[in-house]
Amino acid sequence: MQALNKSARPLSPSEVLKAAGKHVKSLSLATVYRNLKAMTDDGQVHPVQLPGEPPRYELKEAASRHHHHFHCETCDKVFDIAGCPKGLEGMVPGGFTLRAHELVLYGRCAGCAEK
Ligand SMILES: [Zn+2]
Ligand SMILES: [Zn+2]
Repeated sequence: MQALNKSARPLSPSEVLKAAGKHVKSLSLATVYRNLKAMTDDGQVHPVQLPGEPPRYELKEAASRHHHHFHCETCDKVFDIAGCPKGLEGMVPGGFTLRAHELVLYGRCAGCAEK
């Protein structure tokens, strides 16, 4: 929970292990998976499902705000992005009603662009 809380972005199980392993020396990836599953089942943590990707995890508070994600294709990290495009209703054919949308942006993050 602390690892996810400190992170400004969704984390994969191996990123959780890297962050939490600094504080809990004996932590294993299997334990991280088990805890993420338990926290997901209680609703404290939400999986971030990107097409064709293993899930990352974010806290319930983060998941409850409408937001989108940026996937860096170089380091494979997923970032939260603010804002939402306007005018999506205009893309929907006549007579259709838009209920929800998902949006993932792909590219290179600032950390990778510097290298
Ligand atoms: Zn990157
Ligand atoms: Zn949106």
